Parts: sequence; C-alpha cells; structure tokens
Amino acid sequence: MIALTESEIRASFVNCSQGEAKRLRVPLGLADTAWDTLDFLGWRDPGAPAAAYVVTQWRGTLTGLVMRLSTDRRATGRQNMCALCHTVHSTTDVALMVAPRPGAAGRAGNTVGTYLCTDLACSLYARHLKRPDRVQPVETLTTEKRIERVQANLDTFVRRVVEAS
Ligand SMILES: [Zn+2]
Repeated sequence: MIALTESEIRASFVNCSQGEAKRLRVPLGLADTAWDTLDFLGWRDPGAPAAAYVVTQWRGTLTGLVMRLSTDRRATGRQNMCALCHTVHSTTDVALMVAPRPGAAGRAGNTVGTYLCTDLACSLYARHLKRPDRVQPVETLTTEKRIERVQANLDTFVRRVVEAS
C-alpha cells in the first residue's frame, strides 16, 4: 500500500455514515506504519472490542469497510482458518466479521460476513513477518503467491460487500 493519512482513511469508508467515519478511532502511529508490507490497513478499536476496520485500494479506489465481530454463538468456534490469508489459528484468534452493505441495503440489515484473523495482520502472516501461535499445515506456496492470495481474497470480499447482488 501507499502511505495514507487520517483524512484519507476517514474519507474511504463506504458502509457507514459520514458521522461515524468522522468519529471512529483510526490507528495510532500511521507515520510509523510499514505500508509496503501491507495489502490492507486493518485494525481493531481497543475501546470498542466488537469493531474492526479494513481500508484497501480496491480496483483503483481507496475503500474502507466498517465491520463488527459477530457474537452469533452458532457461528463462533466453528472455523479457525482466516478466509483472507488462510492462516490457521485457535478459534479465539479467528472471528466472523460482518460488514453492512453500503446505503439502504446496509441500513435494512444486509451484511456480508467472513472469517478473519482477529488481529487483521493477514498481510504480515502472508509475508512471514508475523508468526501465528499455531503450527501451520505444510504449504508449498511461495511468499509471492501467498500475498497474491490475500489480495485476491480481499478483492472478492470487498466486491461481495459493495456490489449489488
Ligand atoms: Zn488472516
């Protein structure tokens, strides 16, 4: 990614109100972020544990998604692999994250969910810059292919959220 400013981040959100985009907590230390190791900027809000955010260049447009961690007990504990980076975690380190659809669809309660690393560090796992706690299944993919996989899965997820079905 190229470096982003706080105002660029706030302006990128497509599935929340302008007021919410203004108020939400952006990550500290943007100036110290190693942008070239990231396919997307993902973060959690320590003051709002159910909130999660993803900002990425999606088909040429900086696109931010507000998500919340699902508390649906039927869904939790079933899945322990991240859908973006395919890292296998304990079930507490993967969560079903749910993004409202933009506009009226989202206000009517339409959402798109996917299982993601709770720390949203998929870019770093793909590059072997962060080590998951669990031993991973043997994989023969190169780092380059792992990065491509994150980008392809992210592209699909953003498309599912923003495009009319
Ligand atoms: Zn992941």
